[in-house]
Amino acid sequence: MMDVRGRTVIVVGLGRSGVAAARLLNARGARVIANDGAPRERLSAAAAALEGEGVVLAPGGHDPALFDGADLVVVSPGVPSFPALDAVARSGREVIGELELASRFVSAPVVLVGGTNGKSTTTALTGAMLERAGLRTFVGGNFGTPLAEVVDQTWDVLVLEISSFQAERVPTLHARAHALLNITDDHLDRYASFAAYADAKGNPFERMTPDDVAVVPFGDELVARQAARGRARVVTFSARDARADVSAAGGAIVDRVTGARYPLDRVRLAGAHNLANACASAALAAALGAPAAAIGDALSSFEGLAHRTALVADVDGVRYYDDSKGTNVGASVAALSGLLEAKAVLIAGGRDKLGDYAPLVSALRERGRALVVLGEAADRIAAAAAGVLPIARAGSMAEAVLAARSLARPGDAVLLSPACSSFDMFRDYKDRGDAFVRAVRELQGAAGGAA
Ligand code: ADP
Repeated sequence: MMDVRGRTVIVVGLGRSGVAAARLLNARGARVIANDGAPRERLSAAAAALEGEGVVLAPGGHDPALFDGADLVVVSPGVPSFPALDAVARSGREVIGELELASRFVSAPVVLVGGTNGKSTTTALTGAMLERAGLRTFVGGNFGTPLAEVVDQTWDVLVLEISSFQAERVPTLHARAHALLNITDDHLDRYASFAAYADAKGNPFERMTPDDVAVVPFGDELVARQAARGRARVVTFSARDARADVSAAGGAIVDRVTGARYPLDRVRLAGAHNLANACASAALAAALGAPAAAIGDALSSFEGLAHRTALVADVDGVRYYDDSKGTNVGASVAALSGLLEAKAVLIAGGRDKLGDYAPLVSALRERGRALVVLGEAADRIAAAAAGVLPIARAGSMAEAVLAARSLARPGDAVLLSPACSSFDMFRDYKDRGDAFVRAVRELQGAAGGAA
């Protein structure tokens, strides 16, 4: 356990995990300064309330003088670096993330789930498997509850989703098992290069030993190189290739390490990409000792998370899927290619992350009936797909759904999977998905009324 009594700790970034970190440090006797770039009036109620608990609030910028006196700095994942922070790191004082901080106050084994896409689904499913195995299982991290909020509870295992930003600042966090699901273009607006993004994601492998398990996609050189930064035993997974240690080829998920078989007709998740997530989850849970019965039970009851390739409705023979969490090109390619339906009208666009849309255009060439674009990235996506398939433009989600309806044929899917973040038109991906669901429900009401 870390001793922070009497030490001056600055927490930078007062979102939910920053507030949780400040509270934890305060409870353990540190002198806590809560810092944020935003002015006081824009702080959340929870952040403002820290002051009443004895934390010093320092909003409205990152005053270098403040940082001169810090023994330790805890930075939230959303905060880009700034000169005073770099100065702290150069002077040899620690700059860590909330996940690293919280991990110093718990002793249960850690399971990490990283990757560009599929983290939340895999984290939740792995957690469900370990729970069925009777373990007191914490599921959270980058997704749901920050670890710093729950360090005082008793856990047998911690299943933590980790983002690339968090993975940059976990210098001592040790994972008993760590899945890195995939690495494709994302956040290139925040990283110097794709290689820098991949290296950030691979950091936690470095501290793994031969008693630990690295779960990686079969045949993926890029991820394999990251896993090889440590000494963990490697277990591969694949939705398609039976040569993987855990694969979903041939009617069942087969774990060649444990010999377990889980028939696919009992798996509830939709989409080929989700079978990959299911294989990775089975490998992680098995690495933590979960029996096959527990893994199989979780596979046959877990239906996936909202806004991730979730079936909303069937209207006039067309099935509408909400994949609003498809916020980068790799995600939307996986969602489109993984659908049961042969053809889909894709609704895409939003805030552009400056990635390459070529892989999306290739997927559209095979599986796209038509494309409906909206938001700031509309022009770039439309230009990339010009001449490949019919393209419509929409000014709102309701318009996009109406356009998709008129372009779809019976038996098709309409898939909202934007390949972009949502902040140009919506509060977040949930808000965007909810707008899609409302628009589909209206269509459904109109169709029902006409029938
Ligand atoms: P994350 O937490 O990494 O964003 P989610 O489980 O929330 O992952 O899924 C986000 C989106 O990523 C999904 O809506 C889907 O479009 C896509 N996706 C899910 N799993 C995979 C996978 N294994 N490979 C590629 N894309 C995926």
